Order: sequence, then structure tokens, then C-alpha cells
Amino acid sequence: MARKKKTLTTGFGMPVDNDLNSVTAGVKGPVLMQDVHLVDKLAHFDRERIPERVVHAKGAGAYGYFEVTHDVTKYTRAKFLSQVGKQTEVFLRFSTVGGEKGSADSERDPRGFALKFYTEEGNYDMVGNNTPVFFIRDPLKFPDFIHTQKRNPATNLKDPDMFWDFLSLTPESIHQVTILFSDRGTPRSYRHMNGYSSHTFMWYNAKGEYCWVQLHFKTEQGIQNFDRQEAEHMRGSDPDCTTRDLFEAIEHGDYPSWRLEVQIMTPEQAQDYRFDPFDITKVWFHADFPPMDVGRLVLNRNPENYFAEVEQAAFSPGNFVPGIGPSPDKMLQGRLFSYHDTHRHRLGPNYHLLPVNAPKACEMQNYQRDGSMRLDNNGGGDPNYWPNSFGGPNPDPKAAPPPIDVSGMAARHAYELGDIDFEQAGALYSRVMSDEDRAHLIDNIVSHLSGAQKRLQLRQTALFFKANADYGERVAKGLGLKLDEVKRLAKMSQEERVRATAG
Ligand code: NDP
Repeated sequence: MARKKKTLTTGFGMPVDNDLNSVTAGVKGPVLMQDVHLVDKLAHFDRERIPERVVHAKGAGAYGYFEVTHDVTKYTRAKFLSQVGKQTEVFLRFSTVGGEKGSADSERDPRGFALKFYTEEGNYDMVGNNTPVFFIRDPLKFPDFIHTQKRNPATNLKDPDMFWDFLSLTPESIHQVTILFSDRGTPRSYRHMNGYSSHTFMWYNAKGEYCWVQLHFKTEQGIQNFDRQEAEHMRGSDPDCTTRDLFEAIEHGDYPSWRLEVQIMTPEQAQDYRFDPFDITKVWFHADFPPMDVGRLVLNRNPENYFAEVEQAAFSPGNFVPGIGPSPDKMLQGRLFSYHDTHRHRLGPNYHLLPVNAPKACEMQNYQRDGSMRLDNNGGGDPNYWPNSFGGPNPDPKAAPPPIDVSGMAARHAYELGDIDFEQAGALYSRVMSDEDRAHLIDNIVSHLSGAQKRLQLRQTALFFKANADYGERVAKGLGLKLDEVKRLAKMSQEERVRATAG
């Protein structure tokens, strides 16, 4: 069918007579201010950019559905998980973390895995990563950490000294560093990686009984990564390779899918577990908490407009539904504030009304009014206060999560660094990785860490040695460091090590 011819108009609907020639006084100009079409066109263009996300700036997204495959009603009363076979629409945004909006997709970096479920009880967001752990476990360190992953304030260059200085002063990062410098730090595509909640969350059932959970979305495409040489090559030859891969796969009907597994810990088990189960630098060992199947996620629809749907997509780990709640994880608590805050800055106070962010399977009803870019009818003539006697929406006490017991002295409590903080990096190196994984890990680290000052190389290599002696020895050899010096540093407390490498 022939497409109906459309008339070009201004933003206000007035037909435009000519879009090639500005209104000028005579053939040679100058241009006249009365050309309001020209002025409007230039002025809108001048304002096309919105602030880039401070992290996760470069991303790609798609729609799809989540289907429940196993009964989990014993653990959660979330309605979208209430029945085997039930499907819920989702939007998933993948991203790199540290790079700018135009950075290469194959950079070594964790990958974001931010998933929005449009449920009948409101939008539930799982704002995860492709790694089950994180570099730090206190949100107070987050801005500093991110600064070190970005550019040197003087040179505007990526800076291995900043990068390794911070990490070697933050030994709890060793587990995530080991994952990041394995080839999982350069996934071949967004389809070929897992997504993890990383944080612990609360699930609670209809009786108000709760448990702690960690979510794992396991790729059904299989894990595939670039090795260092391939990743470096792709940075030049196809910097948008994973964005392209996702779009083209969905366009061709090759829909990517993930299996959702959950690990479940009772409150009693959490009290006795041999480390803090809310510490995001650690996983719960599968042998202790075997993953259980929950459902399947499929992506089957590309967005129609990148800016409207992907750039303006806004996720928050604070978007819960009844049946799912936060845990005491300190990093999570920081993120509960920061995500909404950054979206208000980036998109404005009414960002939740944008189509990609608005609830789709239920109505939003509250007493928030006004603010810039209020896109809907702003509550019309309904009451704008509560309590009211005019039939306004009322809170529903049944939506309350169960109370949990928290107590303690208010203070800036430090995590005490112990051998347990090195154990999981060591387990990954010695028990999980293949010989080839280990060889690539060492090569990836040596190639990056060799750019840092020698004292930082020594301090960081001592941490690798503490995780596993062979791991530390091979990095030391690759960097040409004296093994005795690394061993001496590894024996010291972190404070002594920092003093010994102060420069
Ligand atoms: P298991 O030995 O039962 O399983 C190993 C896990 O490690 C698998 O889930 C596998 O994911 C994943 N894995 C394999 N290679 C890498 C890599 N290069 N980087 C990150 N993850 C990788 O696990 P355990 O529970 O006994 O834990 C042992 C170690 O495994 C942990 O210290 C941790 O580093 C890692 N791990 C553990 C997870 C957990 O939740 N327990 C989750 C992810 C990693 P896949 O099946 O997709 O290949």
C-alpha cells in the first residue's frame, strides 16, 4: 500500500513551505529573524543532548517476555511469579560501565544487565551486571571508584596508575578484578553472557515469611568471550559490535534467551553463614545454596527509536513489587538512592511518565503533581492530597513487606579485611578456571598492569598472591617483578603493605 504523503510541519503543527532555503533579505542575505521555522529548528537541535549517564553510558536494549517455569509461590507472592506459564512483558538494557556513550563495546568492563518487568503490581527492576559480585561493598567508595575507571583529570586519558592504585588500596575488589580480567571481562556479545542480581534481595510470601535470594540469569546461547587480541581488534574494526549483534539477531528472529535461577537462604542460615551473605564482593557457594529454576526470559522485539526507548530508559533497584524487597546489603542501600536521583537529573522529575518507564500492566495513581515535562493529565481534577474524602487512591496495608529485625550502634563500621576476602578469587582461579582461562587471565592482567608504576604493580600482585600463590607468581613473572618482594608484601597486613609501597 502506498504511504500517504505527509506534510512537514513545525513543532506546533504549522505547515512548512520550504525546508532548504532560509528566509533572507535578498539572494545574498542576511538571514531574517522572522524565519521562525529556521530559529525553531536550530534551537531544538542545540538542545538534542541530555546528560550522559555517569556510569553505564553506552547501552543497547530490547523488549521481550519473562515466563514462569517453576512454582516459587512458597517463597514470594509477587504476582508476576504466581503461576507456571505466566508471561510478563520486559525491557532489558545492556551496557558497558566505565566508557562514554561513544566508547567501544569490546572494552574490558563489567556489563550492565538492567531488566524491567512491566507487572500488574507496578514495574519491578532488576538492575544487575554480568558479574555476580562487585569491586566494593560500601557505597561511600563508589564515586571514587568510578573516577578511577574514567579519565585522568589533568590528561583526560585513561590512567592505569589511578585504576590500579585504587584497586590495590581496596583489596576487597580482588574477586571482581579476577572476573573482570578473565575473558568474561570482554563478552563476545550481550547474548552470550549471564546476568546476575549481584545483590541479595528479600522475597516474602503471602504468609509474610521471608527469605534472602540471589538471582542468576544464565544465557541459553552459551558463554562466549573475546580474548584480549580479538577485543582489541574489535575496538577498531567494529566498535559497536555487541550493539549490532543484539539488534541484528532480534531483527532476524534469532531471539536470545536466559534461564532464571535463584539461590535461597533462610534468615536463620543468614545468621550463621560463614561470611556476611549481604557482602556483594562474595557469592553464595552453589554447594551451600543450590540454584533453583524459576523461569525463562526471551528478547524478541527491537525498540523503534533508540533515544526514546533505550537512552531514556531508567531503571532503579528500588523499584520493587509486593513479594520482593531490599536486603541490608550496604551497596544496595546506596543504589536505592542513587538511581532515582541520577534519573531526576538526567531526565527530569517526571521521568517515570516516559512510555518506556511507565507502568504498562497497571495504572499509576498517586498525589505527585506538576514538575517539568508533566506528560499526562497531571491527575486532572482529582484531589492532590491525602487523606481526602473524595475517593482518592488509598494506601493498601496488605502491600507491606514483613518487618525485619535490625539493630546496632550507629557508626561508620568498617568491614575487617580477612583471608576470607581472598578465598573466592582463589577458588575461581584454582577450581573453576581451565588452564586456558588462567593463561588468558594472566596475560590480560600483565598487559594492563604493566602500564602502572612499579610500586602499584607490586602492591596489586601481592593481592593476587594472597588469593592463590600460583596466580601471584605468574603475574609477577609476567611483569618481571622479584617474587621474593611480592611474597614479603603478601605476608604483611594491608596497612603495612600500603606503607611499604607508598613511594
Ligand atoms: P561452582 O564451582 O559451582 O560453579 C562455578 C561458577 O563459576 C559457574 O556458575 C560458572 O558460570 C562460573 N564461572 C566460570 N568461569 C568463570 C569466570 N571466568 N568468571 C566468573 N565466573 C565464572 O561455583 P561455586 O559456588 O563453588 O563458586 C566457586 C567460584 O565460582 C566462586 O568463587 C566464584 O568466583 C565463581 N562463581 C560462583 C557463582 C555462585 O553464585 N556461586 C556465580 C558465578 C561465579 P557458568 O555456569 O555460567 O559458566
